[in-house]
Amino acid sequence: MYLSRLLHSIEDFVFPRECCGCGCVLAAGERLLCPRCAIMLPREHVRDWWSNSRIRPYWDNRQLLRIGAFAIYHRDNIAAQMVHSLKFRQRWQLGVVMGRMAGRELRSTGLFDDVEMLLPIPIALSRRWSRGYNQSEFIAEGLSAETGVPVRRDLIYRRRHRESQTHFSILERQQVPTDLFALRPGAAEVLRGHCVMLVDDVITTGATMFSAITTLCDVPDVRIVAFGWSWTGMKR
Ligand SMILES: [Zn+2]
Repeated sequence: MYLSRLLHSIEDFVFPRECCGCGCVLAAGERLLCPRCAIMLPREHVRDWWSNSRIRPYWDNRQLLRIGAFAIYHRDNIAAQMVHSLKFRQRWQLGVVMGRMAGRELRSTGLFDDVEMLLPIPIALSRRWSRGYNQSEFIAEGLSAETGVPVRRDLIYRRRHRESQTHFSILERQQVPTDLFALRPGAAEVLRGHCVMLVDDVITTGATMFSAITTLCDVPDVRIVAFGWSWTGMKR
């Protein structure tokens, strides 16, 4: 009894005690969101993935199996506030809880079918230095805890940061920069013949995610699933 109370006190110290959505004080045992915000968090339709056949008319890439997201991101909505807390308020530990939340709700939907590794989208080294962590790694750890799929951070790295913002549209694929990411030495051998999931905190322009997909496509027989914890939605 005392031990569990002590553990709760430690968790209270580690985890913020206010709701990421509305800022209210959370009750003991609540994590991240109050019950109201947990219900209000706008989810993507979980069984409506963009499968390869749906993507193909816009972007003919047979190695990309499907693309999907957990939450819908709009300016200042609950999902946006959670991502903001994770990225800009030093609340890296929220990433694991967010990842677990998504993993729990999505593991039976088919999104993770055949996925053998989770690859967090790397951030630029300069950004990693200033922020101190890569938020997508924590989300991937949370997904891994729920699905059992291992996380690999040692296969792909970021060469530079992308500044410009455009609308999310796979029709604008010609704007996808092809030099944002690169494979680490030996990564191609590890990836060859496997199915991997790229994990990002939010997909807004789509350019970062599609750039990472393009880099992975250099590996023969690799199959890719793209996942954003949140996204702004696919523009057709
Ligand atoms: Zn709330």
